[in-house]
Amino acid sequence: MATVKCPTCRTPVPWGPESPYRPFCSKRCRLIDLGAWLDGSNHIPGPDLDDEQLTRLSAPSVSANDELDG
Ligand SMILES: [Zn+2]
Repeated sequence: MATVKCPTCRTPVPWGPESPYRPFCSKRCRLIDLGAWLDGSNHIPGPDLDDEQLTRLSAPSVSANDELDG
């Protein structure tokens, strides 16, 4: 039987139907890991955008719609 280590407590977890919370050893460990994500303590990789780029991305594009008026 293959095993994986619980990401929360490092307990070896059998990889099979008897481990419904795999790769976690228990529901508690899965909730702990989920809570860590919600807290932002786990690093979420993403592109680094500066303020100017974010402003341009969020601003509505008006020039493309000009020729549709009239
Ligand atoms: Zn665990």
